[in-house]
Amino acid sequence: MTSKFGGNTACVEFRYGPDRVIFDAGTGLRELGQSLGQASNLELTVLLSHYHWDHLLGLPFFTPIFKPDTVLNIFGESKEGGGPRDALMRQFTAPSFPVEFSTLPSKLNFFDVKPGDAFAVGGIKVTVGRLNHPNAAICYRAQAGKASVVYASDHEHDGQGDRGLIDFCAGASALVYDAMYSNSSYSTKKGWGHSTWEEAVRIAKAAKVKKLFLYHHDPLNDDKAMAKIDRAAKKAFAGAIVARERLVVPL
Ligand SMILES: [Zn+2]
Ligand SMILES: [Zn+2]
Repeated sequence: MTSKFGGNTACVEFRYGPDRVIFDAGTGLRELGQSLGQASNLELTVLLSHYHWDHLLGLPFFTPIFKPDTVLNIFGESKEGGGPRDALMRQFTAPSFPVEFSTLPSKLNFFDVKPGDAFAVGGIKVTVGRLNHPNAAICYRAQAGKASVVYASDHEHDGQGDRGLIDFCAGASALVYDAMYSNSSYSTKKGWGHSTWEEAVRIAKAAKVKKLFLYHHDPLNDDKAMAKIDRAAKKAFAGAIVARERLVVPL
């Protein structure tokens, strides 16, 4: 059973007053679209970490994308195989999906970003960092008022201390980190592009972040396995929380 922690793929929202950014567009985005209901004239910003399916699959099922009064600003890295526009086009192409990209009624704006870039979304300041992942991935730090969150999904710890990522996370209110595996399972998963909850704790402590969200769960882990990780991680770091669907945390 995964009904407690959930089974949707990557999608996290960070809100500050009327402003918001959405990290990744996995299947969780479908529910976010539902929660927006019939809201009109939406302008939404989606920050993509990379273009693996589990980070994009929510877009064809995101109801606001089919409304002419929606503006969608989509950020992502340009690399071999294209940038965010190409990634989205591939989602809306036959025979994978019946609605063609060129017929989408919403206004879509695409922005290529790379590590080191900085930009603003209303009152939210965003910076971009690098992750270690097959086909490359980027992380984002969003800062608004006194709150800051680092979204670092799909990262394999580099075995050399992850100095770059620790600096990128320094003092953040929250770190959302790829904790797909545990030390006990990692030996057979080395090189797959993901990290462990034990590394998550180490990075959170080194960067002195306040809250650590263990994220990108192994689909083989059921609720029982996730609850066990939650207990162990909290023992190692009081600010650790296993992310679960529809979790809302004020920062
Ligand atoms: Zn990936
Ligand atoms: Zn992933």
